[in-house]
Amino acid sequence: RAKQRGDNGFAYYSHEMNQRSLDRLKIEAGLRKALEQGELLLHYQPKLELESGRVVGAEALVRWQHPDRGMVPPGEFIPVAEESGLIVRIGDWVLEAACIQARCWLDADMPVMRVAVNLSARQFTPGLAGKVRDLLNRHQLPAAWLELEITESMLMHSAEEVITMMDELVGLGVSLSLDDFGTGYSSLSYLKRFPIETLKIDRSFIEGTPGDSDDCAITSTIISMAKQLKHRVIAEGVETADQVAFLKTLGCEEIQGYIFSPPLSAGKFEALMRESPTFML
Ligand code: C2E
Ligand code: MG
Ligand code: MG
Ligand code: MG
Repeated sequence: RAKQRGDNGFAYYSHEMNQRSLDRLKIEAGLRKALEQGELLLHYQPKLELESGRVVGAEALVRWQHPDRGMVPPGEFIPVAEESGLIVRIGDWVLEAACIQARCWLDADMPVMRVAVNLSARQFTPGLAGKVRDLLNRHQLPAAWLELEITESMLMHSAEEVITMMDELVGLGVSLSLDDFGTGYSSLSYLKRFPIETLKIDRSFIEGTPGDSDDCAITSTIISMAKQLKHRVIAEGVETADQVAFLKTLGCEEIQGYIFSPPLSAGKFEALMRESPTFML
């Protein structure tokens, strides 16, 4: 009906907005169903230590196996989940599924790995450490197997409270990494105040290396700062051999990206680990 009023732009725009909120509502309803019916699953992307060629970790990335639409990537539903608050339930599911998987890998005698789970700001509340402790207990998972990826946006509010929460998590033996590093707005001083072990250089910087001199400068600065502050550093979204060579000269410790492997189903990840324990790039 909006369209019938002619194309004065405004009617058309509000029609678009209605369509968007309808899409969102549909996704939200679908997500509730997905949680109940077990349509969510995790894929795992290996993290490779450059010097040894060993897989030292895996990032768990949520997927939605939609009955009609097939595999839906998180970019299409995480924002809706964040807005609706459903992300807390989804996040709980992801945390437990990752712990269960890690426990299976431990039982299968896989070498110790950090299985990393992405956290949303809405999960980063005072109850989190208790939840994580219960999960580790329930699944008898050594805390060294679990890593939590947080983003700079979570560090901006009430530093004292954030530090307390991080200290509790680190006290359990879980490690924290700072995802998409370099894209947020917060100050660098949190690097010395917060108990963060690893910096993940955002893919947008890696993308331009080694051709773009600005991206090279940013990447090299982050790596050297990380080293001086005794943080581990990993580059995400590594796609080419030239990028690997560049990162190696800078002494970047770990990489994650399509050059080595995309995110894999748990089965394919295990097969990869079985077939060749080390990979020299
Ligand atoms: P992220 O945490 O920064 O995850 C890395 C993303 O980069 C993943 O996209 C991964 O598939 C993609 N990627 C890895 N290597 C390459 C590469 O070489 N080239 C390119 N072009 N891309 C690469 P994915 O799986 O679509 O996830 C997107 C984002 O969704 C994640 O970004 C994260 O912010 C969010 N996300 C995924 N799973 C979860 C989850 O369980 N909870 C929460 N809160 N967020 C999640
Ligand atoms: Mg991540
Ligand atoms: Mg990332
Ligand atoms: Mg990123």
